[in-house]
Amino acid sequence: SIGFVPTMGALHEGHISLIRQAQHLNELVVVSIFVNPTQFNEKGDLDAYPRTPYKDIDALVKVGCDVLFMPTVDEVYPKDLNPELNIDFGKLDKVLEGAFRPGHFKGVAQVVKRLLDIVQPNDLIMGQKDFQQWSIINSMIKQLNLTVKLQMGETVREQDGLAMSSRNVRLSADNRIKAPLIHQTLSAIKSQINSKSIAELKQWAVSQLDLEGFRLEYIDIIDGITLLPIQAVEKHELVVVCIAIWAGEVRLIDNLIIKK
Ligand code: AMP
Repeated sequence: SIGFVPTMGALHEGHISLIRQAQHLNELVVVSIFVNPTQFNEKGDLDAYPRTPYKDIDALVKVGCDVLFMPTVDEVYPKDLNPELNIDFGKLDKVLEGAFRPGHFKGVAQVVKRLLDIVQPNDLIMGQKDFQQWSIINSMIKQLNLTVKLQMGETVREQDGLAMSSRNVRLSADNRIKAPLIHQTLSAIKSQINSKSIAELKQWAVSQLDLEGFRLEYIDIIDGITLLPIQAVEKHELVVVCIAIWAGEVRLIDNLIIKK
């Protein structure tokens, strides 16, 4: 059986934990490294995306990954193949990241479908760190009736709570010191969810982050299935708080499951 972990490279412990999960579930593990141009809505972000192939290969050898698939853009999108996917994700791709990064999830679904067609895995392991991405791929698998099993890997964090991300290396020294505030804010919301209103919690979070000079794109407390903002926690089984902020030139996202 094949376990598959798609990545964009610049590997860190978060990716490695997904590989370990795949090794636990499957006989053979395939990792892909492909910086997918169709999911970037800003050319600058695509160009600035860190690329560390030799370091990545060392990490993959060390963890005992069986196969590295590092295709070129032409291999993933050959000229004679129409990679368009016409899937209606309803509201799933319109909210949160979808509202700020138009076309992003269309590109994500397109590349994951292409990679699944090529690798033909039994299990697909993706991180909770990108909760909305996981939900969209889950919807794609259901709608296309694919047999692959989608697994969720827990978010791996630095010791100070900052979610590991390939983008963290681009943080200024000052913003790197302040960045744990993101997770602290999510954790504080989790611990106060039953004692304060959602509006109060959101307002508090906005002012906290603003004080440290982070530009908040969104912070939303959502239903984990529909991804829509909730009014009252009691009415929902799965509740997640999701955040996106700009720390200088670097856009960071994170989330925390606050009720399951
Ligand atoms: P990326 O290379 O950023 O496209 O991420 C590849 C996969 O790794 C995705 O499924 C992500 O959700 C997952 N991932 C990214 N960061 C983390 C993390 N800190 N912990 C666990 N998984 C992660």
